[in-house]
Amino acid sequence: MGIVSLSTDTNYDALINSLSTPCYIIDRVRLDTNVEKLIRDFDATWPGNVRYSYSIKTNSLPWIVTYMKKLGFRAEVVSDQEYRLARKLGFNKGEIVYNGPAKGENILIESLNGGGIVNLDNFSEIEILQHYIDARTRDWKVGLRYNFDLESVCPGETIAGENRGRFGFCIENGDFDAAIKKLRSLGVKVVGLHGHNSTKTKSLKVFSAIAQTARGLIDRYDLQLEYFDIGGGFFGDKPGKPPYKEYAETISRPFEGINYVTLIIEPGASLISSPISYLTTVRNIRRNGDKQFVTVDGSNIHINPMMHDIKFDIRVFGNKQGASCGFKQTICGFTCIEMDRMGEITGNCLVEIGDRIEFLNCGSYSMALSPLFIGYFPAVYVYENRRFQCVRKQWTEDEFIQKCEVAE
Ligand SMILES: *Cc1c(COP(=O)(O)O)cnc(C)c1O
Repeated sequence: MGIVSLSTDTNYDALINSLSTPCYIIDRVRLDTNVEKLIRDFDATWPGNVRYSYSIKTNSLPWIVTYMKKLGFRAEVVSDQEYRLARKLGFNKGEIVYNGPAKGENILIESLNGGGIVNLDNFSEIEILQHYIDARTRDWKVGLRYNFDLESVCPGETIAGENRGRFGFCIENGDFDAAIKKLRSLGVKVVGLHGHNSTKTKSLKVFSAIAQTARGLIDRYDLQLEYFDIGGGFFGDKPGKPPYKEYAETISRPFEGINYVTLIIEPGASLISSPISYLTTVRNIRRNGDKQFVTVDGSNIHINPMMHDIKFDIRVFGNKQGASCGFKQTICGFTCIEMDRMGEITGNCLVEIGDRIEFLNCGSYSMALSPLFIGYFPAVYVYENRRFQCVRKQWTEDEFIQKCEVAE
């Protein structure tokens, strides 16, 4: 963990004490910057059209989803519930990209009939199509998610490793081939390929392998594609990591020499991670044995719910930032989980009761994965034009018990 100095925005630093904690803060300017840069770099690099589809699962807060919609993004959904959420938040059927390994029958058909983009993932979905197909639906178009041995091309980079990625139709065992033939026999047009792979490294090599594999399939099956969907899984503005431009160049290269189709990208973390922070207040400080524990009113369950080994950068708002401190201070959460330890402060910064501690870069897979455990969902503020706007009020026991019965 690193302690970073306070922001250059003294207005922000002054107002932060007025927020009730714990809460998330969305930095509107940083979010705008990420989105503008993504669109500028991909539009400038991919020779065809680019369609931007926001990965709803990465952070499904309604303010964020509708913010993306206003900027022209489509919605990328991976479940029926997310599909309905996207519809409720104003996306029409044609503006939704429907992925996911367990699509429901009704929404699958609704999306196809509504002109949405559907990327098929398994044979059961083809059977559903076969069941519903009739003269009226003969112009269905689908994409296929392909599965290939990415681990052998990029050793150590995939999440499943030797245990093989689980999504899509496997190329090596003939499933992809069988899927193409089956769909052709049904008269369903295969107009897209979907290659999303989340990896540990998010390396350019991974994206090169995914794009090259798509090119191989286009050539082998003489596919007349309307789109190639590379998925998400990029780095965003993290220092020292590939910028969007390099991803776009890497993805473009294998398509040289053929007509450039529409590129669909499905970014999540690369846009939403860095603009969001999490603010807590120090409740008490104790020393057990020779260790110093600082307990705050927030918790790892809100920023690192899977308890991965993440070291967040933090900012401390207090009076003793420069004070020399010869011992380690372990920041702990409000839960009763022993390992709810959110980080350590070792440098010259003595923390006091009432100080505010802000954890940075925690917008992806944090809010959306938070459980309703011991506490309820925190408030969310957007910082824009020198003020904070609340875009989600803190949940209370009232929201928690809605739709529940009590024992008579
Ligand atoms: C999760 C996911 C994404 C977004 O991934 P990020 O790492 O958040 O960019 C895009 N497409 C699909 C199919 C996904 O499952």
